[in-house]
Amino acid sequence: MSISSLNQVTAAKVRAALPGIPQQPTTEAADRQARKVTVTIRGAEAIITCPAWCVDPHSEDYAFIQDVSHHGEEIALTAPEHQGTTEVLVASISQWPFVNDADRGLPYLGFDATGSGDVAALAPAAALAFIDQAAAHLDRLRAQVQQLTEARQS
Ligand SMILES: [Zn+2]
Repeated sequence: MSISSLNQVTAAKVRAALPGIPQQPTTEAADRQARKVTVTIRGAEAIITCPAWCVDPHSEDYAFIQDVSHHGEEIALTAPEHQGTTEVLVASISQWPFVNDADRGLPYLGFDATGSGDVAALAPAAALAFIDQAAAHLDRLRAQVQQLTEARQS
């Protein structure tokens, strides 16, 4: 067995042992379309447009129209830790369409790097900048594992 095929077998075993890594996003979200939904605000009904990416049932009784918010499917990466696994790089799209803040109620990527609940609100450019950094980091991580593999063979 060559070294590279040994590495592939080991990587496959590690992936199989970590739930969540082989998961792919569902196609359900891609099939949805924007729709009109009826929301309840202090008992009064209002019809709003819910974007295609929103998975929120809008079943709560909101106190104010500004509380109405849309939330997309949450994704996360299951990562190994000392005693099991943890979820990191948690992300989902959110929008408070009736809040007139600096972003004018635009959707943003809610991004929780460590899974601790500290969520950054990222516009597309900021999200893409982070993804570029993360991809470069993964390249360095792969290089470290290669170095580790070589170190264990000497
Ligand atoms: Zn919605």
